Amino acid sequence: MSGSASRLNAISAVTNYKAQSPPLNFSETPAGSVYGSNVFSVKVMKERLPKSVFKSVMKTIEAGEPLDGSVADTVAAAMKDWAIEKGATHYAHVFYPLTGLSAEKHDSFLSPDGLGGAVSEFSGSALIQGEPDASSFPSGGIRATFEARGYTAWDVTSPAYILENPNGTTLCIPTAFFSWTGEALDKKTPLLRSMKALNTQAQRLLKLFGHKNISLVTASAGPEQEYFLIDRNFYFARPDLINAGRTLFGAPPPKGQEFADQYFGAIPERVLACMMDTEYELFKLGIPVKTRHNEVAPSQYEIAPIYENANVAADHQQLVMLTLKKVAEKYGLACLLHEKPFAGVNGSGKHLNWSLGNSTQGNLLEPGKTPHENMQFLVFCAAVIKAVHKHSKLLRAVIAHAGNDHRLGANEAPPAIISIFLGEQLADVFEQIKKSGSATSSKQPGVMTVGVDTLPPLPKDAGDRNRTSPFAFTGNKFEFRAVGSSQSLSGPLVALNTIMTEAMDEIATELEKATGGDCAKLAPAVQTLLKKIIDTHGSVVFNGDGYSAEWHAEAEKRGLPNMRQTVDALPSITDPAVIAMFEKYQVLTAREVASRESIYFEQFVLTLNVEANLTYEIAKTVIYPAAVRYQSELAAAAANCKAAGVSFDTTVLSKVSELIGSLVEKLAKLEGLLPGSGGHGVENPKEAAMHCSHEMRPAINEVRSVCDTLEGVVADDFWPLPTYQEMLFIK
Ligand code: ADP
Ligand code: MG
Repeated sequence: MSGSASRLNAISAVTNYKAQSPPLNFSETPAGSVYGSNVFSVKVMKERLPKSVFKSVMKTIEAGEPLDGSVADTVAAAMKDWAIEKGATHYAHVFYPLTGLSAEKHDSFLSPDGLGGAVSEFSGSALIQGEPDASSFPSGGIRATFEARGYTAWDVTSPAYILENPNGTTLCIPTAFFSWTGEALDKKTPLLRSMKALNTQAQRLLKLFGHKNISLVTASAGPEQEYFLIDRNFYFARPDLINAGRTLFGAPPPKGQEFADQYFGAIPERVLACMMDTEYELFKLGIPVKTRHNEVAPSQYEIAPIYENANVAADHQQLVMLTLKKVAEKYGLACLLHEKPFAGVNGSGKHLNWSLGNSTQGNLLEPGKTPHENMQFLVFCAAVIKAVHKHSKLLRAVIAHAGNDHRLGANEAPPAIISIFLGEQLADVFEQIKKSGSATSSKQPGVMTVGVDTLPPLPKDAGDRNRTSPFAFTGNKFEFRAVGSSQSLSGPLVALNTIMTEAMDEIATELEKATGGDCAKLAPAVQTLLKKIIDTHGSVVFNGDGYSAEWHAEAEKRGLPNMRQTVDALPSITDPAVIAMFEKYQVLTAREVASRESIYFEQFVLTLNVEANLTYEIAKTVIYPAAVRYQSELAAAAANCKAAGVSFDTTVLSKVSELIGSLVEKLAKLEGLLPGSGGHGVENPKEAAMHCSHEMRPAINEVRSVCDTLEGVVADDFWPLPTYQEMLFIK
């Protein structure tokens, strides 16, 4: 095989790969025996806390009541003892800054005892509140540098856990992170606030349906995480993967995903070993990972847990991403969580399955078994339709970032147009309500008689799957499919919870007015309401092919926004109606929303800046020299042939020379746009983002395009970067 030295070394490292650690043994240590072993779980608390303290903590976890501060010392002491038994030397408040990553600051349990020794200490106040220096986290103007303090506050509702390291362990405590003015600097704070608001309005609606005993209503989330695994040796030979998380160069391989031989295919042995180890680690953390499979693109996979309380699921999702990356290293692999690591094959998403419910009424999006429950189900379902239609721009905005721009709008992921897939039968129910006010006809005789007050059970699987819809009803939950693979769940969850809160609030107000508390008036009132909602908001329902050109035209006719790029979509988070909604339900203040918009634009700019710098550097210092070497080899061959009196076909030489000329030209153009060379700073992130999106990104693509063409022309043994073929198929 030919190839440059770095590629050949990488390939030989892959082929000579040997497992580094002894294999796991599930017959000796069954997965069930380690499940949750590193979690300060309800079970552990029950065992270790005095009864009254345990009860008090459970009231906060299960009923959403405020934490009784006086129990903190007792909980902290129990947590410390438990953690030290598990080898912990330190504790860490883990928080979720607006970079979308997880952050942790570690503190030792040890304090000097004044006698030359030390004692282990962990007070209630240290558990409840931390104070990391926050000056390096983005605040979007909320926190001036002179007030750099940030505070972390214990989130009792998300369990503390042990993070292992070969040299010891750390007690990790999930926290909210905010400024000294009490403003949110993180992803968790608004999520917790949105859960609270959701509960309040869901309670109101449930009361209308005559329920007396109503427990805390929470949102649930089940994220399906897609990712790539490639050999680490290739990864380290690609500066673009290391620094940008995606390949900025690479011609399409001769074989891609066209054979559909990867999806659900047999999982390669090393990859499966890595998956099992990842799952083992996640089990210890009490993360209920359930499914694993090969995905559509070569070297692409998926992992999905069983759904949980949305706040816990969001924290667990961060741990899933960290663990995937960490364990991959152990198996000589690199885990790529970017939305589009490789052009030309599918990118990665994170389907966010979402529902709401409680322990007394169950899943409120469950079609149900009795007419009464169906009426209730239809109201909650109509609330989703209303919410998604009214705030489709916000939903588009919360999935907008540089990485996702490569997926949305391309025909592999849902389109950037937000619509709802209801499935054939549910769509039919609403269609009939729309047509005749009170739908009473049957779609298929004997199968389903539809009438608001006499509804039969609806089928659980509401029709066929539709892979092209960004927001699909799938039996008893909605699946938001446009979320990016690298994203925190929190942004999309905050949006979903809050728009649902608003819709439930408005619906409850209307029904309360119409019934005046008289249960007998509920059915006709619901009927009127459903018709009104489907008349006003039904245009967001679409059951057809979301990839088709007809849909794009039809969506435009229906007035559904189609915001293709981050820069088009992001400003919607500061629309007056959105800000008013966030303020009304006390999820985010206007200042907090504005700061988020600014930070997300800045993140976009920083990402594009890195991509531009990398593209420039790699094209100039890695690809250009390779092309010139090949050019000079061809030129020398031409000269030699001429001297020897034989003819030499200069087609390839001309082509290479032409491409080199073009590369030089495109590089000069990109150079003029690079950050810091008369380009821009990030003083005005929104403006800078426009520049990046409209000027810099096309210039990056032009450089890439020439380089990818060169890859198909330059002799393989001169080509310096591992190719798509090698990275995706040599495992
Ligand atoms: P798929 O065929 O799309 O993989 P699954 O049934 O496997 O569908 O579900 C995918 C995800 O949805 C899983 O994480 C699952 O736990 C989650 N899920 C199932 N029911 C609900 C629900 N009611 N609310 C939220 N998530 C749910
Ligand atoms: Mg799915």
